Amino acid sequence: MTFQDFNFKDTLNQAITDAGFTEPSPVQADAIPLILEGHDLIGQAQTGTGKTAAFGLPVIQQMSGNNGVEALVIVPTRELAMQVSDELFRFGKTAGLKTATVYGGTPYNKQIDRINQANIIVATPGRLQDLLKSKRIQINPKFVILDEADEMLDMGFLEEIKNIFTFLPTERQTLMFSATMPKQIKILAEQILDNPKSVTITKKDRTNTDISQIFYVVADYERDDALLRLIDFKNPNKCIIFCRMKKEVDRLSSYMTAQGFKVASLHGDMEQKQREHTIRSFKQGLVDIFIATDVAARGLDVNDVSHVFNYHIPFDSESYVHRIGRTGRAGNKGEAITLVSPNELRTIKRIEKDVGAVMVSDVIPTRKEVQVRKDSDLLNKVVSTEITAAGIDMVKTLQHDMDIVAIAHMLATIVQQEVDVKGKDIIGLGTEEVKALIERAKNFKGGDRNGGGRGRGRNRSRSRSGGGNRDRGGRSGERRGGGNRDSRNGGGNRSSRNGGGNRDRG
Ligand code: ADP
Ligand code: MG
Repeated sequence: MTFQDFNFKDTLNQAITDAGFTEPSPVQADAIPLILEGHDLIGQAQTGTGKTAAFGLPVIQQMSGNNGVEALVIVPTRELAMQVSDELFRFGKTAGLKTATVYGGTPYNKQIDRINQANIIVATPGRLQDLLKSKRIQINPKFVILDEADEMLDMGFLEEIKNIFTFLPTERQTLMFSATMPKQIKILAEQILDNPKSVTITKKDRTNTDISQIFYVVADYERDDALLRLIDFKNPNKCIIFCRMKKEVDRLSSYMTAQGFKVASLHGDMEQKQREHTIRSFKQGLVDIFIATDVAARGLDVNDVSHVFNYHIPFDSESYVHRIGRTGRAGNKGEAITLVSPNELRTIKRIEKDVGAVMVSDVIPTRKEVQVRKDSDLLNKVVSTEITAAGIDMVKTLQHDMDIVAIAHMLATIVQQEVDVKGKDIIGLGTEEVKALIERAKNFKGGDRNGGGRGRGRNRSRSRSGGGNRDRGGRSGERRGGGNRDSRNGGGNRSSRNGGGNRDRG
């Protein structure tokens, strides 16, 4: 099946092509025709399966574009509102449709102006109810979509939602999407949907098979160590670490920062501006470790999250599904890693049963295994580096002052820092920077290799963030284009440790 099969108008087909979508996802293939026929619909599919386009495309297809607010999308959180709104804007802009995002914590007037100009609004329940109740806005949407309905319920928005519907026209097409279908959702569906069709991506398909799910049994006091070691071993591109409570998020953030990792945390009572800023820096790869609570990271759509870590297993299966759905998005592979204490094993069994998932157990890698893995990563990178005339010339020049082993080490460091050794960038380094590198290489020759396990661990991690910061400052554009994986290795001391390892072996 292709998107052509839906006979969308040209502007919409153009937008789909621009978005780079080639094939409808299963929920899109099932839901789009039913929505085009005008049915109300209840859709159940896991996160990351393309639900936004599943309702967005057929709704935009049916919109006239000249009638004020024609479509209303209600979502649980501000982040989701922005995300969904971005996605709908992409699909609607070729048809000249305007989108407004409506959520609390921002001034009313501007928002109301935007709503008055918009064809599509994407809103959180609290602010929307507020605006409707106070009669600051009056809208007559033909299409009403409830996205992530189960989340809204969990967040206690049921009354707001029921109330919002009292302000909406009865003559409308209503669509409801939810990752899970608890009883209360079914009851709500009966109240707001009219003779709905339903689309369910079956339980078997529900757990995204692109996500491998692994759990590690650890004693409670080992959690921190286990987490750090797994991060080192798995070498995630971007990862989210989930905690049950904000308190845990704060503690873990301080701990990891003290260990030298560059992390950002996301929790419920952050200022809106700060949240947006934090999420943006995660999307752009300026920070690649995110520590969050479930609520804060709800619906977060970042495509290249390679790993989700559950610092603690969540209490309920729904949270588990939502959490791990932050990885393995848009056809990518992902890994979901859960730390459990022995008395939480029953929870694993229950979640597996509830969501039809298979979680396999594994043992925390030893320090040695982590080191071997890192050595081979570095080695691979070094041997796959292209040798160029400029590079050779540079080595020849450096050889006047330095031992060849030190030069090799220094270059390995640079490879790790993702500085382009093929000529341009390294030659572009300021002389101060080159001097600093030489100094470092000399120090390396002299020693700095006798630190104990802990000390080295700390060195490594501190330098990771140091190197990372420096590299990332001017290079974020490039990072976005790919190569994220490599850049994580940026870290002087960390590589010097690797270099040491290689040298010992050689
Ligand atoms: P959900 O709401 O089910 O969690 P989203 O609608 O947020 O999922 O979609 C997840 C990601 O997949 C988004 O980045 C979206 O742009 C992308 N996506 C959706 N449909 C397709 C498709 N048919 N082809 C490629 N990418 C898609
Ligand atoms: Mg969604």
